[in-house]
Amino acid sequence: MSLDPAIVAAYGPRPAVVSRRQRLAEYASAWGMLPLLRTVRGLFRRDLRVLAYHRVRDVAREFAFDRALVSASPARFHSQMRHLRDRFHPVSCREVVAALDGGPALPRDAVLVTFDDGYDDNHAVAFPILRELGVPATFFVATGHIDSGMPYAYDWVAHLVVTMSDARLRLPELAIDVPLPADRDARHALTGTVLDRLKYLDDAGQQGVIDELQARCGRPRAAGHVDCRPMTWDQLREMRDGGMEIGGHGVHHRMLAKLPDEALLAEVSECQARLTAELGAPAIAVSYPVGGPDAYDARVIDAVRAQGFRIGFSYINGVSVPDDANRYGLLRVAVEADVDQSWFQGILAAPELFSHATKLRVYPS
Ligand SMILES: [Zn+2]
Repeated sequence: MSLDPAIVAAYGPRPAVVSRRQRLAEYASAWGMLPLLRTVRGLFRRDLRVLAYHRVRDVAREFAFDRALVSASPARFHSQMRHLRDRFHPVSCREVVAALDGGPALPRDAVLVTFDDGYDDNHAVAFPILRELGVPATFFVATGHIDSGMPYAYDWVAHLVVTMSDARLRLPELAIDVPLPADRDARHALTGTVLDRLKYLDDAGQQGVIDELQARCGRPRAAGHVDCRPMTWDQLREMRDGGMEIGGHGVHHRMLAKLPDEALLAEVSECQARLTAELGAPAIAVSYPVGGPDAYDARVIDAVRAQGFRIGFSYINGVSVPDDANRYGLLRVAVEADVDQSWFQGILAAPELFSHATKLRVYPS
């Protein structure tokens, strides 16, 4: 199987290369260096490692949604959570907030597991593993999708690009006009570029491109798809009763910093109102949709604070020593599907050495 050379040239290959960080983690693990690294690091830093996941599931060849959102297979996720249980101190958002508010300090090697968006595999696959191992996690959900059952817009765009039968993909707003490759892997590579450029636009621009693409393909999101389903409120209540925490991720998964004041307030306040009504108490934690440096700002932080959220998470790579100055901009480390067990252990032992750098958005030229 080979990638279309035109796509490779235009968008860069996505080959199964072993990255430098992964190889370094393999060596460090094989030489038994990771526990020592962790111990030495712990002498100097007492911080909070926050892992960010999206989906846990197996990916069949015909899977036609955003592969980048699949963080781990079920087997790999189980091994990762076992490692956390055995070697670290998994904590909840409630404990993090309590520590920030002057309560008990977080334990050394504290780790917080988080999920964004609210895909149904979180309930079907991740939750039973977390419950079995006694690891708490926080699930940040876009409440409008829990209400409607509709697929997420960015993932639907990926789905359309992967499956559309047109000869060319023309998205002038994104400076994209290329032949659509027959090869599935090349299609998936192309979705990464489309989504990066889409997220660069303001909110109205993004909605325009999404609507136009759906109309052109004759495939509205309302049609739904079994591989792109949000959880239900009943599932979220079951997870809450099983020791998990549910947090906010907006209503319609819009990039909050790109919204005008009124729409921003609606996204944040309706999200909190729906969580409170369905789960019986206000959510204490929020993660900003998309979560990069262009996804939240001081105005967004003011809005989430005013709606009662006590702590906020970005999708910017790193680890934080939580304090009052950064409690609404805590860093996270993304776990991605190519992270194998030794790499995962390296990321946990020394995130600054082994984790991916934050991916910055590609600007259309
Ligand atoms: Zn999200």
